[in-house]
Amino acid sequence: MEELNCSFCGRKKPDTQILVAGIDAHICEKCVDQAIGIIQHEKTGITELENFEDLLLKKPKEIKSFLDDYVVGQEIAKKILSVAVYNHYKRLKFYDEKNELEIQKSNIILVGPTGTGKTLLAKTIAKMLKVPIAIVDATVLTEAGYVGEDVESILSRLLQSADYDLNKAQKGIVFIDEIDKITRKSDNPSITRDVSGEGVQQALLKLLEGTVVNVPPRGGRKHPDQKFVEINTENILFIAGGAFDGIERIISKRLNLQSVGYNSSSKNFSFNYEDILSNITPKDLKDFGLIPEIVGRLPVLSFMKTLDKATLKSIMIQPKNSLIKQYQQLFEIDNIDLTFSNDAIDYIVNQAVIYSLGARGLRSLCETILTDAMFELPGTAIKTLKITRNYCENKLKGIAMNQLKAAS
Ligand code: ADP
Repeated sequence: MEELNCSFCGRKKPDTQILVAGIDAHICEKCVDQAIGIIQHEKTGITELENFEDLLLKKPKEIKSFLDDYVVGQEIAKKILSVAVYNHYKRLKFYDEKNELEIQKSNIILVGPTGTGKTLLAKTIAKMLKVPIAIVDATVLTEAGYVGEDVESILSRLLQSADYDLNKAQKGIVFIDEIDKITRKSDNPSITRDVSGEGVQQALLKLLEGTVVNVPPRGGRKHPDQKFVEINTENILFIAGGAFDGIERIISKRLNLQSVGYNSSSKNFSFNYEDILSNITPKDLKDFGLIPEIVGRLPVLSFMKTLDKATLKSIMIQPKNSLIKQYQQLFEIDNIDLTFSNDAIDYIVNQAVIYSLGARGLRSLCETILTDAMFELPGTAIKTLKITRNYCENKLKGIAMNQLKAAS
């Protein structure tokens, strides 16, 4: 019997993994992969260019104004981020044009309590630039050889988020959350893992610096038989975030504030947390336990403010995709006109503050308040729903608020 082979590369059937049969020809898995690559390149050749021009049109003020549409407050962080992103893409534009002076990458680190908008900022920047984004948690990363995810898995995710378009992935954004949890001093929950976290920091360093990494495109551990994609991290923008609990003590010590106001036994500050955090410098990050090289590769440093009542209220109303607007849209699909009274919004915000639910808790609260209506009203003659404080109180009666916190 005649031996089958790939009609494109000529490989014999036993040398292929899969040989797909057509009417009068066969194609092997390698040629299919290559063909997909060619198609994607053809397609993205056009979109890349448009996208790229787009990026360069945005000035820092425009970037900031886009961020304003989605992220409430955090003025300083938004301004610093806008400049960093602008410079990053400027650097990218001149990357190929044999410039004598190499502009350093403006990787960013955001320090501030959880739930204050760090991830949201990174996502919004990616949305504006129409670049792929990978959001990863530093705590799951381990050195190669340990149980957990290799640092390279970050790039597999970015590639996935770019629909396996290498060009796009290489200009994307990586958000590394909880970077403070891989410091030398942090307690490590896993015994199988590098106890200091320093090994992970070293591995991350290479990515931040800009290097070519062999990445298994579908993620997972590196495997000898697996095919790799080479990703150059030179133009990937890294944004790191972390709460850095207790860093205010390091800062106040450096500023010599403890003698004036900080009383370690009562945890009272005569300077508030934000005033202190606004003085943060790279040295404080080192003192907290990030290795100096990592700090050096995250040259843009900013801080996030805790969200006060007024900010939480604005978060409910103001952003382009604010919670209230989202629910209104959901109800509108059923022709139901949903409104919230001002005291209902105040009540929801107050509950979030009392139970320390933060901005994430606002959604859980709204969900709990509106679930009955979302279940009952569709298909009925009721076409308006006004949420009052009374309505909220009724729906939250008997609800374990701590559970809401867990869900949020
Ligand atoms: P972090 O990364 O700092 O832990 P996130 O960005 O994940 O916090 O915030 C959680 C959610 O809370 C966001 O998805 C958003 O809905 C809301 N949120 C937090 N901070 C803000 C903000 N400043 N403006 C608008 N929404 C916010």
